[in-house]
This record gives sequence, structure tokens and C-alpha cells, in this order.
Amino acid sequence: MAPPPNTPQSVPITPPEDWTPSSWRTKPLHQAVLYPEPTALPPVTAKLTSLPPLVTPHEITRLKAHLRAAAEGQAFLLQGGDCAELFSYCTPAAIDAKIKLLLQMSLVLIWGMNKPVVRVARIAGQYAKPRSSPNETLPDGTSVPSFRGDVLNGYEPADRALDPNRLVQAYFHSAATLNYMRAQIASGVADLHRPLEWDLGHVRDEELNKRYGAIVSSITESLRFMATIGADAPAGPLRTVELFSSHEGLVLEYEEALTRRLRVPPAEGEFVGGAAQEAWFATSGHMIWIGDRTRQLDGGHVEFFRGIANPIGVKVGPSMKAPELVRLLDVVNPGREVGKVVLITRYGAGKVEELLGGHIEAVKGSGHRVVWQCDPMHGNTQTTSTGIKTRAFSDIFSELSSALRIHRAHGSFLGGVHLELTGDAVTECIGGSEGLEEEDLSLNYTTYCDPRLNEKQALELAFLIAGHYRG
Ligand code: PEP
Ligand code: MN
Repeated sequence: MAPPPNTPQSVPITPPEDWTPSSWRTKPLHQAVLYPEPTALPPVTAKLTSLPPLVTPHEITRLKAHLRAAAEGQAFLLQGGDCAELFSYCTPAAIDAKIKLLLQMSLVLIWGMNKPVVRVARIAGQYAKPRSSPNETLPDGTSVPSFRGDVLNGYEPADRALDPNRLVQAYFHSAATLNYMRAQIASGVADLHRPLEWDLGHVRDEELNKRYGAIVSSITESLRFMATIGADAPAGPLRTVELFSSHEGLVLEYEEALTRRLRVPPAEGEFVGGAAQEAWFATSGHMIWIGDRTRQLDGGHVEFFRGIANPIGVKVGPSMKAPELVRLLDVVNPGREVGKVVLITRYGAGKVEELLGGHIEAVKGSGHRVVWQCDPMHGNTQTTSTGIKTRAFSDIFSELSSALRIHRAHGSFLGGVHLELTGDAVTECIGGSEGLEEEDLSLNYTTYCDPRLNEKQALELAFLIAGHYRG
């Protein structure tokens, strides 16, 4: 995606005087990692500290400029991927499927909204999970430590002990994933002048099938037109697609080791004389976010996040109070950079009505300019009578539609969506035009944490959002 016109790169914040990459250690920490053999940790973090950054300040500041455009209503943020990424997902097929799905969804959204879409994947680092309980009871009645994500322990019950060597494995799996993503994009996997496969065979409802088919034809026509006028030149917009990486910044030992003081790249066209400006960049991913369980104002995670120059996300769940939200913005973005913070709201379809409006008004009153992103997944998790965690497509769409409407009613606008999805044909969420029912969940239920939209459901959600804008 080309840099948005007339959008200068945001000036990264100067970290507060009293901040260092390790100052979070002086604060109370939720979801802390207590290794059984703490002496095994320092050699691991020393190794991480010596390794190259996974992403660069140049890439990070580009994303920040795009998010600034999203905060100003000139772009839309599409963020999605697994709930819990596993090391074993680092395969060409799984990565290709995710790139393709995000790309197709973004085309549908661009068509619907008539504005650029910023693509951010939950990938190449989404290896840590906050847990509500430290232990889990297995079907045979035994209790084992909960699975906290591949970066901390293994899913197999025998593998649940926390192992610091997994931090280095996380780094190398992120590096391999990012390397493959960058290489595939540079080699034309996202080459839009080649026809994409849009399989709509699953859409049984004739009316819907016609409607989605018309959207696909319109997109295909536009791409053909752009190719005809030469927009598919080697560096043209059809050949250069940007895809950024993101994950929850949960394991601060890992984030700290990859946080580097680096030169701030000059804005495009700007000549930099004199001493180069430097800032602290979290180089584990382009954007990281604070989860709903670790956003305490006086906690270690907020402390860490307030010093980094990356764009950051903050999950906003039903327990967030409006004044607390404003104080949090003041702490993590004292310089009030526009679009630096993405507020990822996740109340649930039944609560969004009651809570979103108040939060919009509080932020408006504070003068902060954020990207408002709707995560319609995490407030809508339910357990079936047979104990399977699922989400209903109708609840997901309902929270999203409410968010779109409530923003409009408050003179605001939705700047993005945050989804848990996979390019594989899983059966984890019920509903959608495939008509998945509770009984179908066992067919291909493979998530290691929360239920994800499959390729068809995710694409359908993009069609529905696009339809909202096109009427
Ligand atoms: C997640 O995004 O997977 C997650 C744990 O979300 P939240 O912090 O909103 O519960
Ligand atoms: Mn999740």
C-alpha cells in the first residue's frame, strides 16, 4: 500500500525520563511467568538480545503512518489471525492460506469502503495466551498447569512445565514465518493481476450467492481495468501489497530482549541533518497489543508499552471504566500522536449498546485521536452443552453492526476490525452461509485456544461489512 497522501510520518514519542525497557519489572505484573528453574532464563534473554531485530523502524513507522490515516478516516484496519499461533503453524501452506484470506478480505473491504485497507496479521509471534486459571482439569480428572502458548509451555499435558528455551524457539519461528511472508509477497503471491480463486460454492442461499457473486465480479472487473491501464507495472499497486505482523505483548521478558534503541527513519522526502533521532522500538512485531487481562494502569504491561515507539493496541472489555480508559491513553500516549493507539473494543453483542457510546464520548472529550477497532470475537464466546467453546456468526456480526451504528450515532466512525480467523476449513464457529451447526463442530475443530472463523465465514464477514457501506 502506498503511503497515504499528505500524511507525514508520526513523530515517535520520546520515552519518559523514568522509563527503560526493564522498568516494568518494578510494577505489579499480571500473568507473570515464574520459571521452575529461574537460572535458565538469563542465558536465553542474553541470546535474544544479541539476535537481529525481527522488524525494522522503517516498517514500524510506515504502519504508524497508515494507522494515522485510519484514525483520520482515510483508511481501514483489517487485523486477523489465530487466537493461539503454534510453532507447528509455521508451514508454507498455513502461511499462504492466511495471506490469501487477508488479501481477499481486504479487496472486498476496499471495494465496499472505497478506501485503502491496512492489513495486519496476528502472526509471527502470537504465541502467548493469558489464562483465567493457572490450572486445567483434564477429562480424566487430573489437574495440570494450563497451556499458556508455545512460547511458554507445550499443549501436551506432559509438556506443561514452563521452559525458557521456548523464548528462543519463538524468535526463530517468528523469523521463519516473517521471512516466508516477505519472500512470498515479494515474489507475487499477492499479485493482483492474476485472477484469484473465489469459491462461493458453499453459499447455499441463492440470493446471497448472487449478491456475493456480484461483488466478486465487480472486484475482478476493477482489477482487469487496472491491469489494462498499466497499474500492474512491477512496482505498481497491483504488485506491492503490504502485510504487517502483530501479537499480544504478554511475555515481557521476551519483549524486553527484543526492544532496541534505533534510529528513527526520516519521513519520506525529508533530509536529516545533524544528530539522528533515536527511539525504543519493540522489534518482535510491527504492532503489539495489551490484552484485556493485563491493562491495569499501575501494572507492568502498561509500564512497558508506554515507552515504545510502535503503534500499540489496547483491548477494551466490559469492565473498563470510561475515566480509566482516558487515563490509560494519557499514560501510553502522552504525546497524543494521532493513530498511535488502536482501541480494540470487545464487549459482546449484548453489551456493546450499553458501553461503547460512553467510551466514545469519553475519548472524544479527552482530545485523544485513536483508531477504533471492533473485536467482535472475545465478548461472544460461549460453551455448548457438550462443553465445546464456540462463537455464533450471528453474534459476531451483531456486535460489529452495532459498533458501526453506534460510532455513527456519536459522530465517530469505526476504523477497523480485529478477528480470529484461519485460512483452513475448520469448524469452530457456528453459523454463516455454510450453515455450520453445533453438531458439526467436531468435524474439524483444531484451535488450541479460542474458536476461529474459517475461510468462508471470514470472507462472508467482509462481504457483510462491504454491504453495510455500499447499502
Ligand atoms: C485474544 O485476543 O486472543 C485475547 C486473549 O483477547 P482479550 O485480551 O481481549 O481477552
Ligand atoms: Mn483469543
